[in-house]
Amino acid sequence: MSGKNSFNCKKCLYISKTDMNLFFDEAGICTGCQNAEFAKNKVNWDLRLEMLKKLFNENKNPDSKYDVLIGVSGGKDSYFQTHLCKNVLGLNPLLVTYYGNNYTKDGEYNLRRMKSVFNCDHIIFKPPTETLVKLNVLGFYLQGDMNWHNHCGIYTYPIQQAIKHNIKIIFWGEHGYMDRSGMFSYDDFVEFTKKNRKEHDLRGFDWYDFTDDVLEKKGKGHLKMGLGKKDLEWAIYPEDQEIFDKGVRGIYASNYVYWDGNENARISKKLYGWKEYSKEFQRTYRKISNLDDMHENGAHDYLKFIKFGYGRGTDHSTKDIRLGYMSRAKGIEMVKKYDHVRPTIDLKRWFEYTGISEDKFNICADRFRDPRVWFIKNNKWYKKNSWGGESNFGETYLDKKLQEKYVR
Ligand SMILES: [Zn+2]
Repeated sequence: MSGKNSFNCKKCLYISKTDMNLFFDEAGICTGCQNAEFAKNKVNWDLRLEMLKKLFNENKNPDSKYDVLIGVSGGKDSYFQTHLCKNVLGLNPLLVTYYGNNYTKDGEYNLRRMKSVFNCDHIIFKPPTETLVKLNVLGFYLQGDMNWHNHCGIYTYPIQQAIKHNIKIIFWGEHGYMDRSGMFSYDDFVEFTKKNRKEHDLRGFDWYDFTDDVLEKKGKGHLKMGLGKKDLEWAIYPEDQEIFDKGVRGIYASNYVYWDGNENARISKKLYGWKEYSKEFQRTYRKISNLDDMHENGAHDYLKFIKFGYGRGTDHSTKDIRLGYMSRAKGIEMVKKYDHVRPTIDLKRWFEYTGISEDKFNICADRFRDPRVWFIKNNKWYKKNSWGGESNFGETYLDKKLQEKYVR
């Protein structure tokens, strides 16, 4: 099923024309939902766990103190992955964290205690705050994503450490696009690749795009922040030959154990005292996700709404619908309640953190609107698909003079 007009999946809440490549079957069900059904009904998970044990056995490295490296944020999935490796499979993991500076209080608590509750070595890498602020600013101006540095750090620093410590297996949680859009099947046993990292996780950008030299070359010299290679060493993906020589592979836990974030949270709480968010998020009902960055569910997610017309109201409800925790009707209610909300408290903090003014934010953010989703009527933004009702979603800031005032 395709066509010119955008439509919604009959089962979840995703729209057909969006930032992900969704495909639909005859019944109008998207590839993400098809994948979720397959995981629930068609996969022999006992067999998969045996395959995982075998894989670890075959990849033991006598030259390393560690059997596996787990990139951890301190979230429910990090706890579950470590629980599985250490206490179910009896392995010795090295935990590695890229620390993006904006942890929530509860997220920080969870992260700090991993080394105690799991009795594991834990490396936490913290780039200087000044560098991170600059990367927030540049990420916003270049691609409307202030958290690009997080995606980059999470998908680079652990690989550097695996090479350094002679660890052959990196154990990731779920493959984001496989889960959300059904990019791969559970029978593909997809592994981590440099291509997927760059094109999807890093949106086609790399560390050098943030340096003065490259900005200058690309005619964006006015954005220079004084960043060079020496500031971004943690963001440089290792050479193919190095990865090949050490035999490093990145596998996804979700190919070997049935992946349910709610269940991961339940296990983490019950066995290890993991804490969910103790306050309310402005843009989602879920309190078990994204505690490692206070702006992830706030400013960052609001930009996603500005760009693609949806946010975590849709993402989290879709996860919960597919897993059987929520009805589609309830999900639609959540979307209407959360997706459009301007996270005033979170934005205020981010403006203070980066020095970007609210006016500048509004004006620059408007440049990232996806025309497949948005249209303008009487200088207001409307969505082509807004779950009924034609309410507008705010002023436009595309006026030429306004935009020129903030050339970015
Ligand atoms: Zn769907």
